[in-house]
This record gives sequence, C-alpha cells and structure tokens, in this order.
Amino acid sequence: KVKAGLAQMLKGGVIMDVVNAEQAVIAERAGACAVMALERIPADMRKSGQVCRMSDPKMVREIMAAVSIPVMAKVRIGHTVEAQILQALQIDYIDESEVLTPADKQNHIRKSDFSVPYVCGAKNLGEALRRINEGAAMIRTKGEAGTGDVSEAVKHITQIRSEIAWAKENLNTPEELEAHAKELRVPVELLKDVISRGKLPVVNFAAGGVATPADAALLMQLGCDGVFVGSGIFKASNPEKLARAVVQATTHYEDPVKLLEVSTDLGDLMAGVSIDSINKGNGIRLSEVGW
Ligand code: PLP
Repeated sequence: KVKAGLAQMLKGGVIMDVVNAEQAVIAERAGACAVMALERIPADMRKSGQVCRMSDPKMVREIMAAVSIPVMAKVRIGHTVEAQILQALQIDYIDESEVLTPADKQNHIRKSDFSVPYVCGAKNLGEALRRINEGAAMIRTKGEAGTGDVSEAVKHITQIRSEIAWAKENLNTPEELEAHAKELRVPVELLKDVISRGKLPVVNFAAGGVATPADAALLMQLGCDGVFVGSGIFKASNPEKLARAVVQATTHYEDPVKLLEVSTDLGDLMAGVSIDSINKGNGIRLSEVGW
C-alpha cells in the first residue's frame, strides 16, 4: 500500500529511457517525472538478438548521481538476484521487464518480499492483477517496445479497461466472482476491489511504442495515468525539444490547441518499425517473449 502510494506521485508524468547521465539530465530538464536507466534502449536490443540483462550498476549509479528525480532500472523477469542487487543500490523503482530476456519462464519475482517498489508490464487484466498480487506497485502496458508503433499499447490499455467494464457488468453473484478470479488466477478480493473502483488499485501507465506527443496524449485520453517513452526520444533528431513536447502533451492531453503547438516542428521523429512488418517475419514481438 505504501509502495502503491509512492507510485501515485508519478501520476500524470512521463518516464524516459536514458542510457547515460547526459541524457538523464536532458530528461529531467524537459520535465520527466522519472528516468529509466538502461544500457541499450529497446530499439537497439530489438536489433541485437543477444541476451539482454540488468544494466551495469556503475552506469545506473552515475545516472542516480546526475538527477534528483526518481531513477528506475530493469531486471529480467523472475531474476530475483538482479532485483536484490538493484535494491542494494537503493534504486527508486525496479521494472521487471519483458524487454530483457526472461530468467524464469514460469514465475515472476515475488515482489512483496522487497521494500523497493516495482513496475510490471501487462497486456490484459489477468496479467495486471497477477503482477499486483505478486506485489507490483505500478502497472504499464507492454505495448511493443522499440518499434515507435503505438498500436499495441493502445490495444493493451483498451483490453484492460474493457475487461474491467465487462467484470463490473457481468459478475454479479459470489459464484461468478469466484469463478472469474480463479480463471484470472488471483484472489477474489483483488477482483472485487478492481470492480468497486472501476480501475486497477495501482497507477497504470502506457508504454511500448510511444514516439510522439500525440501518441502520449492518445494514451492519456484512453485512460492511462502517465507514459513511458523509450526509444522515441533519443532516436529523434531533436531529443530535448521532443522530450519537452511529450511532457506538455501528457499534461495537456485534452487540449488540441496545445497539442497542435507542441506537435509542430519537432524535426525527424524516430523512424520505427511497424507491428505489421514484424508480424511478417522482420523481428520478434517482445510482448510475446516468454510464451
Ligand atoms: N509475460 C512474460 C514476458 C512472461 O514470460 C510470462 C510467463 O511466462 C508472462 C507474462 C505470463 O505470466 P503470467 O501468466 O503469470 O501473467
């Protein structure tokens, strides 16, 4: 509960991927609410085809020293020891991330064993609730990291929201609630809590493929509490201007005049790779990693 409350403070904000202290400073100056420290951004991991692990604590530490906003770093799914190491480093948040190569294909980290808050990815309500039940303080859509194609993130937030609406409408008896909780593999109390709130009990950010201010505002309009921007920013020709514009668009997501202003003259955006081209065999879908 305390950890979920901490994550609430990030609400309405933008969390940016950075690979060095210099980028972290740019992100902070542009108004990011946190940074994600990692050695390679997902667009480059996508190309590498190599095993992707936790970043070297040396670079994470340099980033922590360079900024005053919270710093997050990624661990492999199920890699309890990478998480112990980052907790010992006193990182602000751990992202148990499908963008890295999973260490355990069955079990995620028992996050309630840790004092550091966790963010985890989800594509649907079952995944989100299993991660929350394991102790995640924050959920993000998986989207499709490193593509610059926002469509998977849109799909995942829409899926989660429509499953919550469906549960609210259709689960009326204790038996129906029990049966659905069983299907989702979560305690019935958690499902009931979500139904009574009409949303997840933790903040739910968008991530995976966000590349423009308009993408960020779209996901906010769809009900996200904030946005992760990964490959989008530092793959663009003017990262600082784009970073500022994404922050502005996330704040003023319902103001088309403001969105017009911040979307104008941003230079070359991330070129990206569309989901359809990946489906045709030009790469792997990170959101399906581990299945
Ligand atoms: N996401 C990834 C990347 C996985 O590797 C796995 C498990 O294999 C899952 C999600 C699914 O886990 P769960 O069914 O517990 O949500």
